[in-house]
Amino acid sequence: MLKARRCAECGKLSLEAGHPCPFCGSEGGSAVALSGRGRLLSWTVIRVAPGRYAAEAPYAVGLLELPEGLRLTARLEADPEQLAAGQAVAFALLDPARGPIFRPA
Ligand SMILES: [Zn+2]
Repeated sequence: MLKARRCAECGKLSLEAGHPCPFCGSEGGSAVALSGRGRLLSWTVIRVAPGRYAAEAPYAVGLLELPEGLRLTARLEADPEQLAAGQAVAFALLDPARGPIFRPA
């Protein structure tokens, strides 16, 4: 499950768990479960990947907008040629090295 942090001071959501709130700098907050749904705003296709990801190229990294009002960049588990702006995506898994991974919904 994908989680965000709701700031105890300003009430805004952020994805940077373990860090101060990016909006007000407060340390307080609580974990909030996200729906895992999202919409693809834009993306880039990595064709020449850094060393340890070289075998996975080409792969897409997308800018996503979540219904909770957050934006994030995430690896897309999809054929990069089949992506379309505005398409629905869904959270698939949280990879320790690659971060959140989404796939077409
Ligand atoms: Zn805050």
